[in-house]
Amino acid sequence: MTRDKALVVFSGGQDSTTCLFWALKKFREVHTVTFAYGQKHSIETEAARKIAEKAGVDFHLADMGRIASVGKNSLTDSTIVMDSEKPEGGVPNTFVPGRNLFFLAFAAVYAREMGIFDLVTGVSQTDFSGYPDCRDSFIKSMNVTLNLAMDEQFVIHTPLMWLDKAGTWALADRLGVLDLVRNETVTCYNGVPGEGCGHCPSCRLRKAGLEKYLADRKSYMESFVPADCKSAGI
Ligand code: ZN
Repeated sequence: MTRDKALVVFSGGQDSTTCLFWALKKFREVHTVTFAYGQKHSIETEAARKIAEKAGVDFHLADMGRIASVGKNSLTDSTIVMDSEKPEGGVPNTFVPGRNLFFLAFAAVYAREMGIFDLVTGVSQTDFSGYPDCRDSFIKSMNVTLNLAMDEQFVIHTPLMWLDKAGTWALADRLGVLDLVRNETVTCYNGVPGEGCGHCPSCRLRKAGLEKYLADRKSYMESFVPADCKSAGI
């Protein structure tokens, strides 16, 4: 089995774009899969397509619209007012139930067909907004489940798992794509590219991380080497 190919679960946002360029340093051949799950803003998948083209990797758009119609959330249902904060003792209504579960299951089947057993996803436990399927425990469990389900040896790579948003910006900078990530990704829950609308929870997290990183850029560049970068020679 060759381990020099990877499939990136790719949304066209800050995190998965950083992961795409991380994967391009670590693997000889990189593919992407992007999911349409009923997002209010098709600009997200369009941004993903453009970035994939710029990165020189193939772009596969998979329709997962059904998950949004069964799990109510404010990212896909415009009649639900978006939570601006994580509610006490619960998840914000921007949480799409089962999203990463379905995405990773689909990605693994799709990857297997191409002889790929390394999956890359941009989830982070540090800034996980209360989403349970961004936690390391879920990813490890899912990895075991995929291997048992298909009797394969998948590895799910999560280069951002222990980074906060400032650390993710530092990684993008180290990979030489700070400007691309800043200007061309769509992270905003209101579908505004680049710096975004500035007031949704996702924009606030992204902006605070960027400000923290830029305020201390020099020391980040001198000392910041995420564990996964060492093994990838970045
Ligand atoms: Zn926004």
